[in-house]
Amino acid sequence: MPYEESKYWRGGKKKASFYADDLRLVKEEEAADAKYPKKVSPEEAPWEDTPHGRLKHLAHEGINPRIKDIDMYIQEIPAGGRSGKHRHMAEELMFILEGQGYSLHWDVQFDLKAEYEWQIPKESKRFDWEEGDMVYVPVNTVHQHFNSDAEKPARFISASNRIYKYLGFGDIEQIEAASPSQAMFCHVNEQLKNQEHCTKIAHE
Ligand SMILES: [Zn+2]
Repeated sequence: MPYEESKYWRGGKKKASFYADDLRLVKEEEAADAKYPKKVSPEEAPWEDTPHGRLKHLAHEGINPRIKDIDMYIQEIPAGGRSGKHRHMAEELMFILEGQGYSLHWDVQFDLKAEYEWQIPKESKRFDWEEGDMVYVPVNTVHQHFNSDAEKPARFISASNRIYKYLGFGDIEQIEAASPSQAMFCHVNEQLKNQEHCTKIAHE
């Protein structure tokens, strides 16, 4: 016998039902999924004003748990505004729905050891975009988006793979906040809340 592990590994009295649990859970998940529709309406998709900007969530487990592995939202950058500047491990795809602008990417040097370390270079690369373009943000790249139109909003779909969260690489670092959207601006400025454009936004 090449190894004498059996002397040790055939011992112990603890019992488990992990495999049986998996067989049961997969059936339960199928039944639970069947209760959720394969369609999400604009009314069901929630808005969120975040340090990264104004988001309309499309795919998230909090909206429809049937969608397992993609997080997706529409981001809106007000005229002449900019998104926040952030970094996350998951790669991201942007599809420009409306408007024109550009993104800055900083290619982070990182080392994945027992702990992972990264350095953000001073130099960024600029990518101009307009309606209909798709922009790819590679893994762990610092990025920020700018609306170069002074009069019209820019809107794009952003999608990223949720698997990174499950693997323990769900960290997200907000380096800079977005320029305030009009809704956010009204929300944080008490004295503006009753002004005409703010009450209009509040009722939209
Ligand atoms: Zn991002």
